Amino acid sequence: MQAVAFRVSCPNCGQPAERHYLEQQQQIRTQCPRCDYLMTVSAETGSVIEAYAPGLPTLAR
Ligand SMILES: [Zn+2]
Repeated sequence: MQAVAFRVSCPNCGQPAERHYLEQQQQIRTQCPRCDYLMTVSAETGSVIEAYAPGLPTLAR
């Protein structure tokens, strides 16, 4: 069980966020603790699995 975390800028609020590489699920999850931004993409295909961005209701459309 090992998760690799990278520091990234939140695309929603611009504050420091974390990007986790979930090896077992082959997913990359970007998570911002400040605005609850969440984005999960497939590490294989790059397609979006889950996306949540408060204040940006058009993101998932
Ligand atoms: Zn944010």
